[in-house]
Amino acid sequence: MKHKAPRGTKDVLPADMPAWHYLENVFEALCRAYGYAEIRTPIFEDVDVFIRSVGEKSDVVQKEMYTFTDRGGRRLALRPECTAGVSRAFIEHGFHNLPQPVKLYYRGPMFRYDRPQAGRQRQFYQMGIELFGSTDPGADVEVIKFTSAFFDRLGFKGLQLHLNSVGCRECRPPYQERLKKVVELRKAALCSDCQKRLQDNPLRLLDCKVPGCQAALQEVPRIDENLCASCAAHFEAVKTRLDLLQIDYFLDSHLVRGLDYYTHTAFEFVSRSLGSQDSLGGGGRYDDLIEAFEGPPTPGVGMAVGVERILLAMEKEGLSLPPAALEGVYIAAAPASMQNEGLLLLYRLREAGLRAEADYMGRSLKAMMKHAHRGKYRFVVILDEETGERGAWKIRDMSRGEQREYAYEELLTFLLSERAEGEA
Ligand SMILES: [Zn+2]
Ligand SMILES: [Zn+2]
Repeated sequence: MKHKAPRGTKDVLPADMPAWHYLENVFEALCRAYGYAEIRTPIFEDVDVFIRSVGEKSDVVQKEMYTFTDRGGRRLALRPECTAGVSRAFIEHGFHNLPQPVKLYYRGPMFRYDRPQAGRQRQFYQMGIELFGSTDPGADVEVIKFTSAFFDRLGFKGLQLHLNSVGCRECRPPYQERLKKVVELRKAALCSDCQKRLQDNPLRLLDCKVPGCQAALQEVPRIDENLCASCAAHFEAVKTRLDLLQIDYFLDSHLVRGLDYYTHTAFEFVSRSLGSQDSLGGGGRYDDLIEAFEGPPTPGVGMAVGVERILLAMEKEGLSLPPAALEGVYIAAAPASMQNEGLLLLYRLREAGLRAEADYMGRSLKAMMKHAHRGKYRFVVILDEETGERGAWKIRDMSRGEQREYAYEELLTFLLSERAEGEA
């Protein structure tokens, strides 16, 4: 076989779609309930959009982004995440002039050149929400509660919410200096990436997964104990509201998330079933992001979840999808003499909006019944010589295993009324 999907990408096959649609439907139902409107931004943007937001020194920009120059000489990048593009769009379309907060959701493919592994693709699918325009701790809590509700509806038990505050531009720089001073003394134990981070981006030292670095980062000053008064008050208010909503959390002072735009609250939902690849989704506040794009100062908070990782975690935790309901009509018109009536009925049903199918493969009646069963059709309409001569049609209800006979117009009325019932 000469051509295969590129490394780190996967075809999502028809058999995979029920699970994908289920996740998307659960997510979108929550977006409706919480008042988020959909936005679709391009899958590529000017490289600068990501440099300014995700951060020039971040791993995402330095190592993982797919960048290219188009035929017009523009430097572009496939989006590694969506918050940057949504924020760019927020400013471009003057959303700061709308009544605030502005609440948006998105879903679609993202791209990162990373080592492919189970649940982690180079093209991966994310769904997320962004809430712009409010500094209220209630907004942080809404986004966390949304994420928690999403996992609850999928049936996850025992996910752990990791929570931290990464401070603001007042209190983070002095904290980073304190951290740097302490870690400098243990520099020899750090991996080569962290040697660089120590200079460029000391906060990122905290979430390095290399065991040597984790050991060297034990008992360093905690950022949540070095917040300015306003960051500390904000963080307290978030925790108080989470307590009120009975959402348990674990204070993880090493949680900084990989993107530079976070301020204040950072959170992740962690599953133990995925081993080291354990975050199923998360987010945080990004109060300086819109300003980084030269927009008017506008706070924001958001979250994103990864579809492939959640599907993998659902499989590992034995969570099943709701069983697919039997639906629609399969027309089993065996004898050639009956095919005309069969075809007319087929299109009559489809025009009425019913799922309807007939056989094009010359199957026997027995094989057609098997096919209808496999295809999860609710009804099979059987046209055979014997009933054809009497102007009657047999109909088999696959869910009850019952068979009845109808005249043509009665049959239509019956099938259409069954559809109305199913939709109600
Ligand atoms: Zn602060
Ligand atoms: Zn390291």
